[in-house]
Amino acid sequence: MYDQTKIIDALAFAAHRHKNQTRKGADKIPYINHPVKVAKLLSDFGEDDPDLIISALLHDVVEDTTKNEEEIRETSNIILEKFGENVLLTVLEVSDNKNLPVEERKRLQIVHTPLLSDRAKKLKIADKICNILDIKNDPPENWPLQRKLSYLDWSKQVANGAKGLNKKLDHYFVQVYNEVYTLLKNS
Ligand code: ZN
Repeated sequence: MYDQTKIIDALAFAAHRHKNQTRKGADKIPYINHPVKVAKLLSDFGEDDPDLIISALLHDVVEDTTKNEEEIRETSNIILEKFGENVLLTVLEVSDNKNLPVEERKRLQIVHTPLLSDRAKKLKIADKICNILDIKNDPPENWPLQRKLSYLDWSKQVANGAKGLNKKLDHYFVQVYNEVYTLLKNS
């Protein structure tokens, strides 16, 4: 299959799976805007591996559109069949285990990120950049300042374990982090 066809297929699949979801912010932005932004960011920073771009488009499908082990298995099989092993592995690498408490999932992201594949590491950094930008542009409703600051701090710890593969992307993370941190501190 041509890469373009595969990329459009991934976009359509993600849009279908996220169709009833919105981001956490007051603007109620359709959820699919988020994976599209992550994929575009990677593309803008010179990443042209189709498996990485497709993984970015699909990165929240397992974590956010399945309810149990069976659905995770079904979804994984679809991803494997349509998009191949590289994509499935990358998506699973960046998916949290939702059976664990949130704090434990956050701790595990810090611990596991340095052990991830190159694709998953780049995807992690791009994901964190987009989420930090959302804290500035369309913050989750009811998040007090302290929660936003600790989200930034946690993101930085995760990103630290993922850097070293795309210098410009690493640099952009620091730039976005500093910008939003300063903005929050002065708010
Ligand atoms: Zn994400």
